[in-house]
Amino acid sequence: MAIDKEAIKEHVRGLLIALGDDPDREGLKDTPDRVARMYEEVFAGMNYTNEEIAKMYNKTFCENLDVSKSSKDMVIVKDIDIFSYCEHHMALMYDMKVTVAYIPQGKVIGLSKIARIADMVGRRLQLQERIGSDIAEIMSMIVETEDVAVVIEGTHSCMTSRGIKKTSATTKTYTLRGKFKKDADLKMRLLIETTGNSSSNLAEKMIINDD
Ligand SMILES: [Zn+2]
Repeated sequence: MAIDKEAIKEHVRGLLIALGDDPDREGLKDTPDRVARMYEEVFAGMNYTNEEIAKMYNKTFCENLDVSKSSKDMVIVKDIDIFSYCEHHMALMYDMKVTVAYIPQGKVIGLSKIARIADMVGRRLQLQERIGSDIAEIMSMIVETEDVAVVIEGTHSCMTSRGIKKTSATTKTYTLRGKFKKDADLKMRLLIETTGNSSSNLAEKMIINDD
């Protein structure tokens, strides 16, 4: 469904009035239009389903990988910068770092495409956990394996700007599928890759999202 820019303009104007401001004053008169144009850009991912995003970035090449002996060779792309907006407050989620790992079963995706997928999925009203499961789902469709893991670290402005304890300002989520969920050794390798630390203390603190 396409984003309705005109409706956004109208509603933002109403919002300015509801906030007690004058939408016709100099500084605000173009604000509804600016917000509508910004929303079109930052919510571009809402125009596409996961299937459509998978088709968009489905540029794989076949590798003659030796998959005969249940391979654990993982491909990992670390620290992809994205932003998103939380669906609870429509507030910015920033300083987001996404790490995507998968175990190729013959199909390999270009690394820049993984970054594009993460970026596009962020351009929706989101939950950090769902960014992880959306990326995992799209990756699975493209590389045709369930063995995908997504680790996301992010700061939510709905928390940091509202005086809630700053110590828990950063949220880390893990989406583990296939072998990443079942294989303790692989899970540990991922943990070391994403934290530089394998302490069980850290493992306890992480939120596991493995739907
Ligand atoms: Zn929020």
